[in-house]
Amino acid sequence: MFLRELTASLNHVKGAGPAKIKPLLSMGLHNIGRLLCHYPRYWEDRSRPVPLRDFEKGKVCTVVTVVNNVWVKLGRVETLKVYVKDGTAQAVLVCFNRPFLEKQLIPGNCYRMFGSFSYRYGELQSTSFEFEALRPDPETDFFRILPVYPLSAGLTQNYIRTLMRNALRQYAAPLENELPDLIVRRDGLLSKPDALCAMHFPKSVEELTLAKKTLIYEELFYLEIIVGKRFFERKSRGIGVGVPRNGAARNQAEDGGKNMTPLQKRLLERLPFALTKGQEGALRDINRDMDGAYPMARLLQGDVGSGKTLVSFLAALKVLDSGAQAAVMAPTELLAQQHADNAARLLEPLGVRVAFLAGNIKTAERNQLLKSLASGDTGIILGTHALFSKNVVYKKLSLVVIDEQHRFGVTQRQAILDKGERCDLLMMSATPIPRTLALTVFGDMDVSVIPDLPPGRKPIETHLARESNEKKVYDFVRRELGAGRQAYFVYPLIEAGEDGEDGELPLRTLKDAESMASRLASEVFPGIPLALIHSKIDDGQKKQIMESFRNGVTKILVATSVVEVGVDVPNATCMVIEHAERFGLAALHQLRGRVGRGEAQSFCFLVYSDELTEDGKHRLKVMLENRDGFVIAEEDLKLRGPGQIVGTEQSGYLKLGVADPVRDAVELARARADAFAILEADPDLLLPENLCVGEVLRRAPPFSDAGV
Ligand code: ADP
Ligand code: MG
Repeated sequence: MFLRELTASLNHVKGAGPAKIKPLLSMGLHNIGRLLCHYPRYWEDRSRPVPLRDFEKGKVCTVVTVVNNVWVKLGRVETLKVYVKDGTAQAVLVCFNRPFLEKQLIPGNCYRMFGSFSYRYGELQSTSFEFEALRPDPETDFFRILPVYPLSAGLTQNYIRTLMRNALRQYAAPLENELPDLIVRRDGLLSKPDALCAMHFPKSVEELTLAKKTLIYEELFYLEIIVGKRFFERKSRGIGVGVPRNGAARNQAEDGGKNMTPLQKRLLERLPFALTKGQEGALRDINRDMDGAYPMARLLQGDVGSGKTLVSFLAALKVLDSGAQAAVMAPTELLAQQHADNAARLLEPLGVRVAFLAGNIKTAERNQLLKSLASGDTGIILGTHALFSKNVVYKKLSLVVIDEQHRFGVTQRQAILDKGERCDLLMMSATPIPRTLALTVFGDMDVSVIPDLPPGRKPIETHLARESNEKKVYDFVRRELGAGRQAYFVYPLIEAGEDGEDGELPLRTLKDAESMASRLASEVFPGIPLALIHSKIDDGQKKQIMESFRNGVTKILVATSVVEVGVDVPNATCMVIEHAERFGLAALHQLRGRVGRGEAQSFCFLVYSDELTEDGKHRLKVMLENRDGFVIAEEDLKLRGPGQIVGTEQSGYLKLGVADPVRDAVELARARADAFAILEADPDLLLPENLCVGEVLRRAPPFSDAGV
C-alpha cells in the first residue's frame, strides 16, 4: 500500500474522537494518509539536556527537583513561586495565573522540565515552562526532538502529537516505497515508513535530515516524472513518432541553415534593422520545431523590450507560407490592439490579411470577420481571449501564439489549441521565469531565450526620489518634454478613496491617477497635452488615447498599471512611478520597461513615501541595482516564495508539501535528470526496477488534486 492509498477515515486512529476530528477535517486532513503527510512546521530540539547553569544558551531542558512553593505579593496579586534546582543551579518558576500548579509541583518530587530562563532581580527565573513528573515513560515529549505542527482552532500540539504517534504505529510499517530502490540505495535514503516516522518523531538531528532529504527527493522526483510524461507524450503525439534521442536536452540538432520561408525573408528585407542574435536563435528554434514531426510547444523568454513580438510575427509568416492560419493572443485589449496595429503595418504590405478580434467588436463587423476566418481569407488574427470563444471557427489554425502567457490559465491555453489540429504553440513571457521554476512549471516545454536587447538601447537610468522631492522629478520631466519626449506617470489607484490593497499607508496620503491627472494638467504641466488611462475607461476611448500617445499628440500619459504589459512607444523616455513601494518587483520591472525602447536615453523615477516597509525598501533597492529581468525575478522569488510568482499560480504544479524548488534547486535538477532518464529508457515504466513508479502513478498519483 502507498501512503496516498491510506484513505481510511481518521476514526480508525486510536484516540481520534469524533469531536476532535472536526478541526482536522477543516484543515483538509480527511484521511489517514493526509494526516501522515501533515508534516511539522518546525522541530523543537529538546534532545540534549541543558543544565540550569547554562541558561544563557536559550531554552533549558533538564531534570529538576522542587525545593519549595511560596506565595508572594507581586504587584497587586498573590503569585505562586516555585523554587527548583538541578545539579547545577537553582531557579524560580513564576506561575502567573496558574495557582493550580501548587498541587502539581510538589516539593521533594522530581520533574522533567523545559523552559526559557532569564536573570531577574538576582534570580534565575522562568515564566514560560513546561514540566512533567519524572517517571519511566517512553512517550515523553521531553528530551527528544519534538514536532511542532501547524494547528487550527480547537487543536493542541499535544493532541496532534498523540494522534500522529498512534497513526504511525498502526499504519506506517507496511507502507511501500515510492522511490525506485536503485535511487534509494544510491543516495542512502530512508524507506518510506522510516522516513515518515523520522519526519514526525526524529531520534536525532541526523535522522531528521535524512528523512527530509528522502521526502523532498521523492516529491521532486514525482513532479518531474509527471512533467516528463507530458514532455514525452507531446513528442510522441507527432506523426513520425519515435522519441528523439535525449529529448530533454534541446537545441542539439543544428542544421546551421536558417530555414527561412519566403514571407519571412520578405519581412526581414523590409525591416530597417537586423534581427538580434537572440531573435535569430529563437527563430531558428521555432522554424526547426515547426518543420519537425511533433507539434511545437515552446516558451520564448526574453526581457522586456527584447523584441519577442517580431519573432512571433515571423513564426506566423511560416505558417501562412504553408497555407494555414495563425492566432496571436494577448491578455489585454490594449496590447492586442497594439499587436494588431503592428501586424497590419508590417505584414499587410506583404499581402497578408490581418484581423483583430476582441470582446467588444460590433456584431456586423464580427460576423464579417468570422466568415473570413472560416474561409481562410484571414491569415493571421490577433486578439484577446475572444479568439477562442465558441463561435470562432478557423479554416486551418496551425499556430497559436500566447503573449504574456502568465496571464492565461491552463484551460484557456487548451481551449485555443483545440481550435486547430496539432497546433503549434508559442508562449512568450517578459516576466522572466527563474530557471529553477522554468524546470517545474514549464518543465514540459522547450525554451528559447533572447538574452540580448536590440543594439543602440541605452540602459535606463533609474532614480529613487522621496515623495517630498517630487518637484525635482517633475522639473526633470518638464525638460524632457521640452526636448520633444513623452512621459508616463503611474499611480497605484484609479480614483481617490479607493481601497488600497493592504492598507500599508493611510489612504488619505495615497495619490490616485484621476486626481493626479488633473493636478499635473493644471498645476505642474499646464498647456502640455495630457491623457488619463485606466481599466475603467471604455475600450473605444482607450484605443483613441493610446493612438494619440503613440503618434505623439498626447505628451503625458497618466495611468495605473494597465500600461504594465506590452505597451511600446519608443519616443517615451520618462517613467515616473509614484508610491513605487506599493508595486511588486515584477510590475516595477514591466513598468520601467515601457521606456528605453528607442535610441534616446530614458529615465525611470521611483517616487516613494517616507513610510517605507522593510520589504518596500528592499524592492526599490533591487530595482535601483538591477536591470536584468532574470535577476529581478530571482529576487522576487526570494522575497515572495514560489507560490506567489506570476506565471506559476495558475499551474498547480507548485502545491508542494516538503520541497521548495528554489531552496532545493540542486535536488530538483537531480530529480529531473533521474525522472527523464527513466522515462526515456522505459516510457511505459515496465522494467522491473521502474515498476513501483508506474504503480504509484496508477494507484496513487501525486499532485492529482492540484489538477496536474
Ligand atoms: P518585448 O515584447 O520583447 O518586450 P517588443 O516586441 O515590444 O519587445 O519590441 C520592443 C521594440 O523593439 C519594438 O519597438 C520593436 O519594433 C523593436 N525591435 C524589435 N526587434 C528589433 C531589432 N532587432 N532591432 C531594433 N529594434 C527592434
Ligand atoms: Mg511584448
